[in-house]
Amino acid sequence: MAVCGVQAAGSEQAWLEAAQAFIQETLGPAGQETNIQLTQLVIDAVKNVWLSQGRNRGFALPLSYSFVSVQDLRTHQHLPCCSHLSWSSSEYQAWAQEAGPDGDPLPRERLLLLGTLTDVPADLEQDCRNGSLYVKDNSGVLGCKLIDLDLSWLDHLFLFPSWSYIPPARWNSPREGHLELWGAPVPVFPLTVSPGPVTPIPVLYPENASRLLRCRSKLRIVKPNLAGKLVQLSALVNSQKKSYFILSLGGSSPAYISVPVIVQVPAQLVWHQALWPRRSYVLTELRVSKIRDHPYCIWTTSPSSRLLPLEPECVQELELEGSLVEADPRPLPRPSNSQDGKGQKGLVRDSRLLSYMGTVTRVLNEPAGLYELDGQLELCLAYQQYCGLRRVVRPGVSLELQDVHLLQSVGGGARRPVLASCLRGAVLLRGFSRQKPKTQSSHQAHGASLYEQLVWERHLGLPLYLWTAKALEELACKLCPHVLRHHQFLQHSSPGRPSLGLQLLAPTLDALVPPGSPVRDAHKEILEEPHFCPLQKYTRLQTPCTFPSLSTVKEEAQCRAWASFDPKSLVPILEAFHLTSCQLNCRLAWSWLCLLPSAFQPTQVLLGVLVASSHKGCLQLRDRSGSLPCLLLAKHSQPLTDPRLIGHLVWAEKYQLVVERDVRSNFPSWKELSMAGFIQKQQARVYIQFFLDDALLIPLPRPFLHSTTSSGPPQTEPTHPEEPHMGQSRLFLVSHKEALMKRNFCTLPGANPKVPQATLSFHISGSWLGGTQRKERTGWGPPEPQIDENKDQKVLLIFMGSSIRWFEFLHPGQVYRLVAPGPPEPALFEDGRLSCKSQRPLELAGCVSCLTVQNEWTLELESSQDIPDVLGVHKALPESSLTDLLSGNFSDSLVSFSAEILSRTLCPARHWMKPGALRECVKLTVALETADCEFPPHLDIYIEDPHLPPPLGLLPGARVYFKQLEKKVSRSHNIYCCFRSSTYVQVLSFPLEITASTPLPHIYLAELLQGSQAPFQATVSCHIVSVFSLQLLWVCAYCTSVCLQGRCTRQGPSCPAQTSVSQAIIRILVEDGTAEAVVTCKNHHVAAALGLCHSEWTSLLEFVRVPGRVALQFTGPGAQRESSAEIEEPLTLFLRTLCNSLRVLRPIVLSFELERKPSIIFPLEPPRLQRFQCGEFPFLTRVNSKLKLSCLSIQEPEHPNFVGAFVSSC
Ligand SMILES: [Zn+2]
Ligand SMILES: [Zn+2]
Repeated sequence: MAVCGVQAAGSEQAWLEAAQAFIQETLGPAGQETNIQLTQLVIDAVKNVWLSQGRNRGFALPLSYSFVSVQDLRTHQHLPCCSHLSWSSSEYQAWAQEAGPDGDPLPRERLLLLGTLTDVPADLEQDCRNGSLYVKDNSGVLGCKLIDLDLSWLDHLFLFPSWSYIPPARWNSPREGHLELWGAPVPVFPLTVSPGPVTPIPVLYPENASRLLRCRSKLRIVKPNLAGKLVQLSALVNSQKKSYFILSLGGSSPAYISVPVIVQVPAQLVWHQALWPRRSYVLTELRVSKIRDHPYCIWTTSPSSRLLPLEPECVQELELEGSLVEADPRPLPRPSNSQDGKGQKGLVRDSRLLSYMGTVTRVLNEPAGLYELDGQLELCLAYQQYCGLRRVVRPGVSLELQDVHLLQSVGGGARRPVLASCLRGAVLLRGFSRQKPKTQSSHQAHGASLYEQLVWERHLGLPLYLWTAKALEELACKLCPHVLRHHQFLQHSSPGRPSLGLQLLAPTLDALVPPGSPVRDAHKEILEEPHFCPLQKYTRLQTPCTFPSLSTVKEEAQCRAWASFDPKSLVPILEAFHLTSCQLNCRLAWSWLCLLPSAFQPTQVLLGVLVASSHKGCLQLRDRSGSLPCLLLAKHSQPLTDPRLIGHLVWAEKYQLVVERDVRSNFPSWKELSMAGFIQKQQARVYIQFFLDDALLIPLPRPFLHSTTSSGPPQTEPTHPEEPHMGQSRLFLVSHKEALMKRNFCTLPGANPKVPQATLSFHISGSWLGGTQRKERTGWGPPEPQIDENKDQKVLLIFMGSSIRWFEFLHPGQVYRLVAPGPPEPALFEDGRLSCKSQRPLELAGCVSCLTVQNEWTLELESSQDIPDVLGVHKALPESSLTDLLSGNFSDSLVSFSAEILSRTLCPARHWMKPGALRECVKLTVALETADCEFPPHLDIYIEDPHLPPPLGLLPGARVYFKQLEKKVSRSHNIYCCFRSSTYVQVLSFPLEITASTPLPHIYLAELLQGSQAPFQATVSCHIVSVFSLQLLWVCAYCTSVCLQGRCTRQGPSCPAQTSVSQAIIRILVEDGTAEAVVTCKNHHVAAALGLCHSEWTSLLEFVRVPGRVALQFTGPGAQRESSAEIEEPLTLFLRTLCNSLRVLRPIVLSFELERKPSIIFPLEPPRLQRFQCGEFPFLTRVNSKLKLSCLSIQEPEHPNFVGAFVSSC
């Protein structure tokens, strides 16, 4: 660093000349000629120090050193450095080695620093003294710190042989560096040693001083002097009115008596740096004063007071009058510090007051005043005004903490004991750090004033303060600098301009800090006994919540989803027992898990910016770590419509974190279910769903929105900086929205003539409301008149490319404004512009006027109340009538309805019947929501490619509105529905968080004859009248061919599979006195129908294994037998006997569903006439057709006797 223009060139003469020039300019009295004496004294001082170590390295002068002025340091020295005039290189090396294990030592510069030590910040500001120290020369003033100040050094010129300079940190608001002065400075002019007093100073010791304070009226001594040991030193308090500190002098005996003295004369505040606890001092010329608003009288210093070290031979104790001696010297009762107050008031603890010497080992959060001490304690300085220390404290600094509070297990995520200083105790610097300050990342630099607000305005206790500091750090890590700049996030909060960080945490803090916490009173905090301050009592904090990054949330959700994935729990073993390989694997193929905030301890809050993806068309929450897809409802049954929500910061405490599990497996049968090796592929789709009403939405400052609203390429950004106030727009009403899916489009002319690719897109059909409007200064101008008023205003809008980001916001019945930025173009929104025809989807050829929405166009939601044309529009969701839905009338095969999803499965037939072409098909079974039906009919909805994966939120328990599903009829005359490209799906509500399984209605069978009013599933108490048929067989688990003696019988090609499963089917006739029904029971329900326990059932099936199949038909009592076995085998005989026994023909409680889904294509047949022969008389009677039911479960009745009596009486 070329400071004085002198390079150490070996020429003493040149060095001396440069020194002279520097001294005259920087140190000499301003505007005077060279002071030869001053120059000589300075050079002598430099020489003395240089030669003091006896190693002059051949030179009488430090030629390699150059002089540096305060101004030079400030303007040119941008890096931290140190300078040690008398040290050899090896001495510096040894010193640097002790900088600490993970710190860089301060680099050494060869600089000579001289200056006057002063406590006046600038020449004219005598009253601005606040106890800080400065080094001053003609070029300027620089703050400094000194470990052991001698008050006699003030205002003298010194050579500083050892010092370090720390330039201002990049972010700190007072952009001032500072000096750390190592060791004692060397005076240029000899210091005048003040001679000891001629006569001993008369002094009061604390005992008497305390007595005098109590009997102030009798005080006759004018300005007494006080002597004693320094037993307590408060922090330096800077209030708006004045700065002060309070020290207490104690006597030798009794030790507990101490007398506080307040020091508030600005020129005496610097004493704070010279005082050492446990040393003895004399304070001269004190007065007694009363502190405003307090009952205390206190000794105070006068402007002429001095601070002197106590030398017993120079003082003489002052005698008091007799009456005063009587007075009790104790100023106030001083109870011993309560050690631990665990007992009282449950969880409230008392901290311990102690003194501590330690070294800072880490900076935890500088703006929040949090450090690590000695590698095992946390130090919190936030409850003091510690600005002066902030720049000095870094790893390696030794501190002496007076009367510091020790708080243990404060909770809230803090694991170590915490030392925290209140105003009562001083934090004293006892050693500088040899380390270079670390470069701060910006989140470590901002927010100091926000943290101060938390302590001084919001009055947070320490446990909550530590948690808040950590939470703000976590939040800043999530959001900055992507979404926000650190200084914006952590800015000081003021009424019109709240800090975003505090805005986010405010609800949590408000709930934990009752309003009206006591305001801190510095005098009380320092003087009052027993001591009371915000750190005195504390309660262990239960961590209120955490803010995991979205990528962590996703990972954890996936982990939990797979940890809880258990094939055995997905398929009950009784059922699994009879499933073929394909059925079993289909059952496992899709499952889901819903995690609520309460699943995490502590509660997890999801926080991110709401983004509309231009690639996928879905909504996402995004933070720095990644993004999570989300499904939002404005409120119950109301979709999200306002695109202005894009870019808002979302804080969600109430949400459902959904994990959909897709598993590809090849389990041969139930026996292998516990072996994970049969899982071939597994993937999880994670997303969140919540109501906007439950979330906190905070708009973000504009400049940062562009980086978050669109993830598309930069050219799609809707920015037109050159014409920000130009644009045109047109209103339209949405009547229908089609599915977001890949569609084929013709290649654009001039585009790459490759094979046309399917493009993710969707269509909106609707109608224009009025003509194009131009942007004017205050808003939108009047609509342009229509060229052809009679022309149809209907329009089809095509959204492709990055304009698919509007998908989630567009909904039927809403009015939107389509805005095209930039200079107005005539007929921009007219048909045929923008090569629309060539982009028109193939399927839409010959449709109404159509327009492709350009990437840079934007959408705004308009309130439809302001638009007269829309007033008459029917806002309710159109639904097909039940008759249309379930009838065989196919004139309009598109149906719309709301329904609750009952189950979601991968459809086995479609999935597995065509091996090779694995076309997936999702089957939703839904319960229709119809107003005129007590028991909602059930319906199946199939979703196939290209509509896979299904939209978010199609989960069991969710209520969904489906529009324009295609109605179809199956071979067995069941109505079902399929997704098609025009299908619109809107989730109305999320699955309930607590699903109470409602019991099936208990009915009489005759109620089923009432057609559509009958429940689809129900329970009935009935009696098994007879068995129609029974079949037991073993099939190959792989190809479902019959197995003989456990071997697959498939021929050409023969089947390699070894595994077989048993299957069973029984058809029984039941009646309950009102009607009869034929019930089909399958697999494990057959065991229940036959009244067999599990072991009986399995041994029966084992007997069947040899023949492979046993089938019995019963055509009524005494009818012809039909059996697979030609000779009546013992097994057949047994089954026949069993089926005719009272063990089977008994009362039961049957849960069932109708064998045929409700449809009115083939309504129930009317009762028909049947001829009966009774003895010799034939007669006719009306007989209802038999009901056909599928068994869901069979239970034995709770009161068999009663039911039996009921049945037998019929
Ligand atoms: Zn305290
Ligand atoms: Zn087979």
